[in-house]
Amino acid sequence: MNNEKQTIHEFDLNIIYDFFSETERQGPGSTEETLKALGFIDGLTEKSKIADIGCGTGGQTMVLGENTPCEIIGVDAWHDFINQFNQNAQIKNLQDRVKGIVGNMENLPFQEEELDLIWSEGAIYNIGFERGLNEWRKFLKQGGYIAVTENTWFSEERPAEIQDFWQKAYPEIDTISNKVAQMQKAGYLPIATYILPETIWTDYYTWQTLRRESFLEKYNGNKTIEEFVASQRYEAELYYKYKAYYGYMFYIGKKI
Ligand code: SAH
Repeated sequence: MNNEKQTIHEFDLNIIYDFFSETERQGPGSTEETLKALGFIDGLTEKSKIADIGCGTGGQTMVLGENTPCEIIGVDAWHDFINQFNQNAQIKNLQDRVKGIVGNMENLPFQEEELDLIWSEGAIYNIGFERGLNEWRKFLKQGGYIAVTENTWFSEERPAEIQDFWQKAYPEIDTISNKVAQMQKAGYLPIATYILPETIWTDYYTWQTLRRESFLEKYNGNKTIEEFVASQRYEAELYYKYKAYYGYMFYIGKKI
């Protein structure tokens, strides 16, 4: 049976989490890109509060912790990632200011106007870009910022194979201008919108290639694991074939 056209999101969460537990980042991103985005955020002080939503094990959160004086709360639905996050904070001696909590991005434990900055790399798709922008806005102070990465079409028209794949995996994928319009409609001033470099995907997929081998060894003969690995390989192949048509963008907005 050829299940290559399944997307990885259709597999059991335990498999997905196990696969991604052994890396610093669980999505495409890098320290350089986190710092570049942080450069657009003004006015952060030791009194400021940042939430990193869908923080994973905290790769980008630790960068924020080391480069701002703020209190930072990382929120993720997966307990093991949060345990790893808090260990990482301790290793970097950030544990007094940077804390991970288990929580759901659809029901965040913050007060209205409590936050100065909402960060979310490679995660807002779980709630949906538009819904996340709308629902999280109330937690920001007036003049507070939101910075998220989101998979985006670079052109109005795409070859059917890639169109169909992402339409199924993430129907909210859209063009840059439509995403910016959604941000504006949700009540933010679009401060910066730019494409992340191809290397954030190629590094991510290179790591996956290696991880797939050890994963297949660990679960030797397990059909579901083989299908999961095949679906991932397919997603990576599509990226190399069609990277002119889509990629990750940073969207940075200011609550007005
Ligand atoms: N920001 C990290 C992780 C990105 S992967 C990085 O860039 O490396 C997406 C993360 O979203 C995963 O850690 C997953 O556990 C988390 N997630 C998925 N659905 C969620 C939800 N409903 N609430 C909170 N976190 C969620």
